[in-house]
Amino acid sequence: MPHVITQACCGDASCVYACPVNCIHPTPDEPDFGTAEMLYVDPSTCVDCGACVSACPVGAIKPGHRLPETQERFAQINADHYGEPVDAVRFPVNQRWRLPMAPVDKPAALRRSPDPLEIAIVGSGPAAMYAADELLKHRQARVTVYERLSQPYGLARFGVAPDHLATRQVMDLFDRIARHPRLEILLGVQVGRDVTLDQLRVGHHAVLWAGGAPTDRPLALEGMGLPGTQSATSVVGWYNGHPDFASAGPDLSTERVVVIGNGNVALDVARILTADPERLAVTSVDLTALAALRASSVREVVVAARRGPEHAAFTLPELVGLADGTARVWVDPEELASLDPPAGSGTLSIEASEKIALLHEISRRERPAEPHIRLTFGLTPEAVLGTSRATGLRLRRGDGSTVQLDAGLVLSAIGYHGVPVPGLPFDEASGTVSNDGGRVLAGDGAPLPGMYVTGWAKRGPTGFIGTNKTDSQETVEALLADAQSGLLDTPTRAVFAR
Ligand code: NAP
Repeated sequence: MPHVITQACCGDASCVYACPVNCIHPTPDEPDFGTAEMLYVDPSTCVDCGACVSACPVGAIKPGHRLPETQERFAQINADHYGEPVDAVRFPVNQRWRLPMAPVDKPAALRRSPDPLEIAIVGSGPAAMYAADELLKHRQARVTVYERLSQPYGLARFGVAPDHLATRQVMDLFDRIARHPRLEILLGVQVGRDVTLDQLRVGHHAVLWAGGAPTDRPLALEGMGLPGTQSATSVVGWYNGHPDFASAGPDLSTERVVVIGNGNVALDVARILTADPERLAVTSVDLTALAALRASSVREVVVAARRGPEHAAFTLPELVGLADGTARVWVDPEELASLDPPAGSGTLSIEASEKIALLHEISRRERPAEPHIRLTFGLTPEAVLGTSRATGLRLRRGDGSTVQLDAGLVLSAIGYHGVPVPGLPFDEASGTVSNDGGRVLAGDGAPLPGMYVTGWAKRGPTGFIGTNKTDSQETVEALLADAQSGLLDTPTRAVFAR
């Protein structure tokens, strides 16, 4: 029975490099790697060796015969990626030929030099830790990570939902990286307050900015800003115990919450706000948040998307998790049928087709008990209702008619956004530090010597935790090439007097 990649897939592609027969795709070299919602094992070429299981940092890969009931659907989802019929999943016949050779994760070598290469990394989230891991493959590299909070690992700790315990295991990988003797993590050090970026630049050969996209994309909507409205990302920070969001607890005295946008953040928040608090109690949820969730009056969380199901921003693995897990989720069958993409309206990706099929399956189920999540589509928000606080939301359908939903809490979940970094050129539209493949570009378009960027600050807030591995590899490759070419200045001053 072949192995199967399941919901927690982080996309860091460690499995791709571990697989001896190249049966996991897309690989980072393939064009669809950047858009795939997860990686997939080809059941017809998997030799069932389990090498990928050991390599996966989040325990997402399982032997097909040991899939728990809640993840059985993933056997077919993996096979569908290769156009394999169900029988081929059960009885793989290995008829198709594939080069039995794994891509090799080979670090670009630095010429042997006795001189250490001192690198500062700002931030300690996934992109920072993958970059550190990559740099530390070179014996000359010594890395200092500067983190403003008192706990490391950024969104792996404060962004991943508390009930996604498998995904949170990626912090074990980061712990292993953090124990490297040539890595030091300085917690509670804020660049711009405790040390300046210029001090870091003269104190190291290179500085790698991995500060992420720490705020939410603002939603320009009448009434947004009233009490009873806030960003979903602030709720994520609150239930994960992020110190910046300790006072961002939402008002849960309302029976209905509307979440605007249907990305994975919207699903996470909807799931946590409707979860059985007893189940949450055994997760990493913040205890103050748990107490508030125990006292919650919320009966329904409506996740409202402005476009149709074929454009759903949530990923297929997350929808499967919602449909087959303990969450109670509902889709109105009539509404869904009315939004089916017209025949001949273009080819849908396999993932989009599978999402639509699963939404139809959910819509055929009995309407679940409360509290539940309701997924709606084709509703564009027009205004938050209420004068002194939010009392509801008015939305417009494609045919021009409007829908009014009573709700005491309206959450915008339309994405994260980067903030400018003093001293670095910033592109406001994308919320990123201007860069070319990770080399920070000055105003005149020339690379800023010794200054690099990775993660969401480099590419914007897209992808999964593991996407940062390939992203950081690209940046580190650029940095090492510059070191090799003698483009990095030798540090002239220690950053902190010891
Ligand atoms: P996202 O995936 O970019 O989704 C944003 C949503 O907001 C979309 O539904 C979008 O709809 C909608 N939207 C944007 N502007 C809007 C407007 N003006 N009015 C109404 N709706 C609007 O953002 P996210 O959920 O914050 O996720 C960010 C990234 O983190 C994603 O890559 C996500 O996969 C990742 N993430 C992953 C996980 C996980 O793997 N479990 C968990 C959390 C986050 P349109 O498509 O119509 O623009």
